[in-house]
Amino acid sequence: MSDKSAIEWTEATWNPTTGCDRVSPGCDNCYALALAKRLKAMGNPKYQNDGDQRTSGPGFGVTTHPDALNIPYSWRRPRVVFVNSMSDLFHARVPIGFIKQVFDVMQDTPHHTYQVLTKRARRLERIADKLDWPSNVWMGVSVESADQYDRIRDLAKVPAAVRFLSCEPLLGPLPDLPLDGIDWVIAGGESGFSARPVDPEWIREIRDQCVAARTPFFFKQWGGIRAKAGGRELDGLTWDEMPDTSRHLRAM
Ligand code: SF4
Repeated sequence: MSDKSAIEWTEATWNPTTGCDRVSPGCDNCYALALAKRLKAMGNPKYQNDGDQRTSGPGFGVTTHPDALNIPYSWRRPRVVFVNSMSDLFHARVPIGFIKQVFDVMQDTPHHTYQVLTKRARRLERIADKLDWPSNVWMGVSVESADQYDRIRDLAKVPAAVRFLSCEPLLGPLPDLPLDGIDWVIAGGESGFSARPVDPEWIREIRDQCVAARTPFFFKQWGGIRAKAGGRELDGLTWDEMPDTSRHLRAM
């Protein structure tokens, strides 16, 4: 387990890119797509570029924001930073030169811990050797059903200090998870008005595989119309395990 005392575990989001396109069933109720539409209507300058209406929407066209690259330098105290809550950094329309700039910022600010999550694992794997991988970057892929196991195999080849799976919104069972080279698994049900229900057996199956493989497991929520209403206990226990970041803490 990690020593959390060395870092302030406040969460922050950083969006050097915005916009995306739906790629798999996990995207069906994308909150970012709906939020971008509202932000565009409110006149937010970061959300004025429209995406393809078949896969994206108003204000959700893929856009890079060079002016956002400086933001992490202004945060003096260490933070856990979720990168691109409103986009996917490895989208085909984000130039590799810009992805490199994002990685440069993460390398230049080692007091922060960055969590990067993608559904574009194939592109991630293809360009991984062109990026520097500082130990404060945690790289993850979304795995909402067993149809996405190729993403896990691609992630396992990436030289990130921490590789994690986000099994959320969980839409089906995940038997025989390939956990070799995976440092952390998060699971959770979908929330919001159109939430698709999660079967508790799917969560138990993931937990049991993580316990057997000694992979830290974090159960985020059951989900439902109101995210918090269902709580986050699983068979009477709260699962808050975190990856072993001793390598990262030693490097700081
Ligand atoms: S990949 Fe993520 S940001 Fe992009 S459409 Fe899907 S859920 Fe939304």
